[in-house]
Amino acid sequence: MGKHAEWDEAPGELLRAGRDFVLADLDRDATPGWSEGKAAAEKAMAARGEELSDLQERLFADGRTGGDRSVLLVLQGLDTAGKGGIVRHVLGMLDPQGVALASFGVPTAEERKHHHLWRIRRALPPAGKIGVFDRSHYEQVLVVKVDGLEPAEENEGRYAELNRFDRQVVNAGTTLIKVALMVSYEEQGARLRERLERDDKHWKYNPGDVDTRLKWDEFQGAYQEMFTRTSTEAAPWYVVPADHKWYARIAVTELLYRALSDLDLSWPTADFDVEKEKARLAATMSEPGYQAHEHQDTDGGRGGGGGGGTGSKEKDKKGKKGKKGKKKK
Ligand code: AMP
Ligand code: MG
Repeated sequence: MGKHAEWDEAPGELLRAGRDFVLADLDRDATPGWSEGKAAAEKAMAARGEELSDLQERLFADGRTGGDRSVLLVLQGLDTAGKGGIVRHVLGMLDPQGVALASFGVPTAEERKHHHLWRIRRALPPAGKIGVFDRSHYEQVLVVKVDGLEPAEENEGRYAELNRFDRQVVNAGTTLIKVALMVSYEEQGARLRERLERDDKHWKYNPGDVDTRLKWDEFQGAYQEMFTRTSTEAAPWYVVPADHKWYARIAVTELLYRALSDLDLSWPTADFDVEKEKARLAATMSEPGYQAHEHQDTDGGRGGGGGGGTGSKEKDKKGKKGKKGKKKK
């Protein structure tokens, strides 16, 4: 792993929105728990990425062998907050086979025929996967509330409904990590301007973004209300200062890492007789000492065919790294 900088304090504790969380007091330019700056953060993040990738493979293997666990990362934030950057830079460190990404925009005609949670339920991650929601069911108490897209009385009932939904998701075996990326007004303005100034960023700009920006205070109010009423024990909100993209990325990497590590997953044990299978296989080989060109241990932990039978070499390698060789079953 080599030497790299460390968190002063786990971001999970620092960023979780508690009962008395006050959004107006959040310094969006701050980097809570990280005092080493950007270059050190990028190095540490790459190292964490490898560990995260290893944990992801365990989750994937667990899902393939009857486990019911999954993880869902919910990303909320106004335009330019960096949701796409998290997907690219954090989830991009993982095996795409194990990631289920869903983006939620203005509901389509088909989606509008159903309850607002219909499209959300269909996108929940199956066992073994890390789901990522780029926007989510929480838009119901953000844009829908601010723009008055449903009657206020109906909208008022959404908070309890969202809490119930989250509890169901958690009870079904999913670790829910709800992340709100919060940029400052100035930073959002600068990022939008950059989108307009650069030809290669025009595709990211939407004239509607300025209309949303004009409702800044209403949106901040809606976010505050959302944190107060839906940051629960089972599914807390993590409020991430997002003026520094590198900070938001390393913070979300760490939140994911902790969540996966807390699952405490061991490698599934073979449901076949390994020695017997070795003997059966050997009997089919004309050169018993023949070694595979690309050793399964040296391909970065991938390519073993997705869990299950990667064999004892793989197990030894993970075992040597320590800390993750815990037993679950
Ligand atoms: P983007 O994330 O930039 O692709 O934009 C998606 C747009 O869809 C944003 O303007 C959201 O406010 C909007 N959106 C997402 N969910 C809903 C919803 N449930 N109702 C109305 N608009 C939504
Ligand atoms: Mg947008």
